[in-house]
Amino acid sequence: MTTANPHDRIVVVGGGIAGLATALHLAPLPVTLLVASPLGQQASTPLAQGGIAAALGADDDPALHATDTLQAGAGLSNPDVAARVARAAPSCIEWLVAQGASFDRTASGDGLILGLEAAHSRRRIVHAQGDRTGRSVLEALIHAVRKTPSIQIMENHRVTDLALDANGAAAGAFCAPWGSEGSEEPILIPGRAVVLATGGIGGLYAHTTNPLTAQGGGLALAARAGAVLRDLEFVQFHPTAIAAGLDPMPLATEALRGEGAMLVNSRGERFMQAVPGAELAPRDVVARAIFAQICAGERVFLDTRHVLGEHITSKFPGVTALCRAAGIDPIRDPVPVRPAAHYHMGGIKVDDQSRSSVEGLWACGEVASTGLHGANRLASNSLLEALAYAAWIADGIRGMESRPSMVQPPSPSFAPWHRSNSRNQQSLCLQQIRSVMDRQVGVLRDAAGLHQAVRHCSALTHEARSIRERDAVLVSLMIATAAYSRNESRGAHQRLDHPHLMPEQHTEMTLDQALRIAAEIDNETAAPVRRVA
Ligand SMILES: Cc1cc2nc3c(=O)[nH]c(=O)nc-3n(C[C@H](O)[C@H](O)[C@H](O)COP(=O)(O)OP(=O)(O)OC[C@H]3O[C@@H](n4cnc5c(N)ncnc54)[C@H](O)[C@@H]3O)c2cc1C
Repeated sequence: MTTANPHDRIVVVGGGIAGLATALHLAPLPVTLLVASPLGQQASTPLAQGGIAAALGADDDPALHATDTLQAGAGLSNPDVAARVARAAPSCIEWLVAQGASFDRTASGDGLILGLEAAHSRRRIVHAQGDRTGRSVLEALIHAVRKTPSIQIMENHRVTDLALDANGAAAGAFCAPWGSEGSEEPILIPGRAVVLATGGIGGLYAHTTNPLTAQGGGLALAARAGAVLRDLEFVQFHPTAIAAGLDPMPLATEALRGEGAMLVNSRGERFMQAVPGAELAPRDVVARAIFAQICAGERVFLDTRHVLGEHITSKFPGVTALCRAAGIDPIRDPVPVRPAAHYHMGGIKVDDQSRSSVEGLWACGEVASTGLHGANRLASNSLLEALAYAAWIADGIRGMESRPSMVQPPSPSFAPWHRSNSRNQQSLCLQQIRSVMDRQVGVLRDAAGLHQAVRHCSALTHEARSIRERDAVLVSLMIATAAYSRNESRGAHQRLDHPHLMPEQHTEMTLDQALRIAAEIDNETAAPVRRVA
């Protein structure tokens, strides 16, 4: 085993907004930043089109932002967390500007342009370069990180296991250079704290807007280290992914509906008209309405022509380019859309400083469950959450005492590990997972489908041949198990067989508990998972 850099450093895993913001806030403490790909690639952050929510308008207030967040969260968002994050939002935008990000300003240059998105009661979405917010912000952060001497960047290094000490506390990470997984000894990067900022799970679904590598790898790392995961069943499906045969699917941002774009079916009917909020109803409502049309044999289109016409090219250059790359001219034609897995509200359960239940292990960004999003995320709150928590994580780690520790070797691995030649390579096992998750753990769920999904995933645990496959199967199994166990419909989790609300409770589980419950489900004697009010 190679031991690299035996310093008292902090290991940050992930090169999206969460990882980079955490590394920057930690400066000048020494940080090793481990990223599975080159910086700027294979992350959700550069794909973010909508923007970042912050109560900056004269008619707005953080309390209103928090109220909208709680409303979207359908009873499972934590009011203290929502209030704290909403209060932090204006300073997060200022911090980004100080890092070199620039946001779209009004013609006079006095203020930021504030956009409207679904379920926000005020215009409060700040953008950079129109719909290129994520890419623009990420580029500024990459530039800042590369200039910061305390941050050692290791690109193309995928973390395969957390390093634990004899007490089970996180003491670093084992990683493998890209393409060498399983064929070489893992490299140990020791650290007094580890921050997982590994993003979401959309890549586990056949229809997704996420990079295909977003397969919940960080959830698996934490789960295998014994961490408690929370509310994994809550997966947000974006209603308007562009249905043009691309994988992952490009997104037609919600801001288009904010500008007045309409949803119509193949017969030209505006089917959202009768629904409260119409096209700007909460995401889960719109996603289900579109899904119902598709199940009824219709195609669904987002029509921007009457409200934007040719202006779509200047106001939404990113969407225009994505449409054209998919062979669609949005000035002339309505854009075909369908729901796709987009954002994971569930994640590693963390406290108000973003500490997990494993000592020394922290989580930031989409991989964390902070209590902000509850059962459904309010649009443009996720970049904000990552920024707010990155600062709080740095404060927490700064206040931590250094603890010397002896790292235990990683647990026995799958053998043989197969070399993967492409980051996006789809093995048969991954194809099966994506298909099962899409069909049975998707927009609409029921006991029979979830039962099949758990059984299918259980069977696939014996077929996984690489670390990536193993982790994808474990995370899918945990999501399906959590979804099977929640006998109600709330937010993004909709059960055809349990359409009503039950008393508000979170789902919490460790990997051992999930495997036990999955075995019971397999035997059709499922016991309920631990529920916490
Ligand atoms: C199309 C799209 C549009 C969106 N629009 C918006 C929006 O407008 N506003 C908003 O607030 N949110 C939006 N979101 C959601 C938001 O972009 C994400 O939630 C957010 O960017 C997640 O940031 P992150 O840093 O947690 O993860 P990511 O940006 O996904 O970064 C994860 C990083 O972890 C690395 N990684 C993963 N596993 C490992 C491993 N084992 N070892 C090493 N590295 C690893 C990856 O390579 C990557 O660098 C959008 C998402 C998508 C997909």
